[in-house]
Amino acid sequence: MNALLRLDEVMLKGNNQSDFVDQLLRNIRALFSGCRARRLSCGLFVQDISPDSLGELSLIPGVAKVAEAVLVQPDIAKIKNGLNELLRNAKTQSFRLTCSRSDKSFALNSLQIVRELGAFINEQYGWKVDLKNFELEIEIFIGREEAVLAMAATSGVGGLPTGSSGKVVSLLSGGIDSPVASYSLMKRGAEVVLVHFQNQTQVTAAVSEKIIDLAKTLARFQPQVELYIVPFADMQRQVIMHIPSTYRMLITRRVMLRIATQIARRIGAEALVTGDSLGQVASQTLSNLAAVYSATALLILSPLIGTTKREITDWARRIGTLAISERPYEDCCSLFVAKHPKTSVQTGHVEALETRLNVSVDQAVSTAYHTIITK
Ligand code: ATP
Ligand code: MG
Repeated sequence: MNALLRLDEVMLKGNNQSDFVDQLLRNIRALFSGCRARRLSCGLFVQDISPDSLGELSLIPGVAKVAEAVLVQPDIAKIKNGLNELLRNAKTQSFRLTCSRSDKSFALNSLQIVRELGAFINEQYGWKVDLKNFELEIEIFIGREEAVLAMAATSGVGGLPTGSSGKVVSLLSGGIDSPVASYSLMKRGAEVVLVHFQNQTQVTAAVSEKIIDLAKTLARFQPQVELYIVPFADMQRQVIMHIPSTYRMLITRRVMLRIATQIARRIGAEALVTGDSLGQVASQTLSNLAAVYSATALLILSPLIGTTKREITDWARRIGTLAISERPYEDCCSLFVAKHPKTSVQTGHVEALETRLNVSVDQAVSTAYHTIITK
């Protein structure tokens, strides 16, 4: 089957528009192997995809609308044949037809086209025209060299194609929030590299299936997802030995940020991403976030900071990570949930405590397991 993709934000990019469109075309070709994708005046036309791909396309960053579509030559008889091909399996009682012409030299104007084709559909299928309460919307786009016929468009996520706004390193835990935070940055055009800190002394092939599955799910939206897994058990042991329980979570997260910063610098990423949401847990009060984030000079982006758990969960369900995140998993942070964690701390005090640890950021990075995940 074929699809017509409409773009919104990408089209506002002035002189750079074609770079953004090209990036989106590259992403789509890589994510839907075997498909052909090209730019037309009405949007992107993607050929030879499976019916399941329509839903997946709607979640590709940059795609604002998705519709099943047929491409024909701009000729009224051919358009009628094309409509028969498009509508043969459609089930509806009523429809609305809209037409836009980028080629004004076409023999009929938009109103005449809508009248003629509306009557044709009514005759062939017995469906009624209903401009207000239609069940099925059919759109016709007439260009100089082609006409595209599309039906039942659904909204896509919009935004910008990943790979068009630079690179970020996202801290991926096994929870619900951080996969959604990672997707949010993809949706703003960033290429997202994942870093996970794992409760093991050595990361080998026994890498958590859960983390791999989360990365694989995110690789449905970005053609290649790099994943670093940093063995973190030694660090956790040190934290337990030297840090009072009320500070363990904060200090652990500071160490994570320092290691992630080093990875970011090595791979040319310009920011870190976390799944923090203000006040969600004790380590996410304003003063604690300040104490954690001050561990690095690198820009930290927390796209979920002002969202509710329900909003985050809705997104997680939509992108397919919720069920994976809900699988049981011993995240290294879950060991440090104190009974009465400090909700208001001073960065200076945290820094003083941290000197008790012997952290080699370089060593942590060099022992990290690195892999590239694809869909
Ligand atoms: P999530 O926030 O993904 O649901 P969580 O709520 O268990 O997981 P928090 O304890 O809220 O995680 O941690 C806040 C953020 O810190 C996470 O969103 C994630 O960005 C980062 N983080 C926590 N644990 C890890 C880890 N083991 N590896 C990488 N990042 C982590
Ligand atoms: Mg969280």
